[in-house]
Amino acid sequence: MCLSRKSKAIYSSSIRKGGGKERVNDYSILRCEDCNFVYLSPIPKQSNDFYESHEYRKKWDYEYTPDSIHAKYDHEQNERIIRIGIENIRGKSVLDLGASAGVFLDAISSSAATTIAIEPALIYKEYLQSQGHTYYSYPEDACRANEKVDIVTSFDVIEHVEKPKEFLSYAYELLKPGGKLVLSMPNLNDIIKKVEKDKFEQFFYQTAHLNYFSKEAIPELFCDTVFSSIKIDFLHKYSIENMIRWAKYGSPGNVEEVDGVFDRIFDAHYKSEIERLGIASHLFITAERPL
Ligand SMILES: [Zn+2]
Repeated sequence: MCLSRKSKAIYSSSIRKGGGKERVNDYSILRCEDCNFVYLSPIPKQSNDFYESHEYRKKWDYEYTPDSIHAKYDHEQNERIIRIGIENIRGKSVLDLGASAGVFLDAISSSAATTIAIEPALIYKEYLQSQGHTYYSYPEDACRANEKVDIVTSFDVIEHVEKPKEFLSYAYELLKPGGKLVLSMPNLNDIIKKVEKDKFEQFFYQTAHLNYFSKEAIPELFCDTVFSSIKIDFLHKYSIENMIRWAKYGSPGNVEEVDGVFDRIFDAHYKSEIERLGIASHLFITAERPL
């Protein structure tokens, strides 16, 4: 990311192919010694239409119809909306980079004044337009159309892109002066990596993710932009049960053994503490385009 050539391999065993269950051995995970950025090497050879066609979704989600994507990811929108505040969305224009089947935009569209979806997967184009979202395949297309919005969001997308700094520069260009960026991505320093390092690393690293961000690498990501008020926060998506399952079985999910033991308040405390310590599953970053 900083164009330095000084890097060290931090992992070179098997990783997930795409984001699926199959494993591959032909990759290393490297850490830049100058900026701490961690990345996949080599960059997988993917056809240009990898994200436009069904190929990517087939590897990631067995089902990729809008309905099945909603069933799988709708619940993640609650916390995103709480973090931004529905009062900050009402009457505003919102653009989501990597909108998928509109999981976030659908959830806020009755409050937002206008919604724009950027999504290369053409399978979702018709659905996104049917929900009233303006559609573009790529951020370049929205820039060319001179779109400018109050809020740009991008959830779990920047880890997939080949040029994260360029991705961020599009987000900047699409914001009005005074507009706000909300960006989240997986955190390299997830608590589960401490609990069950070997199995978690085999699961966490995947050819679909070219970039692995940590708090330490964020300054380099933003250094070529003039974003201001950059705030790095954390978001933990998974319950205490998920951590117990990793510790006991080395895989994600729930565990019958503790079914009903932990209630809503315990889980809220657990997630807050994990976030406070910076060992959450995701980074949650906000920044502003200066006036
Ligand atoms: Zn670097």
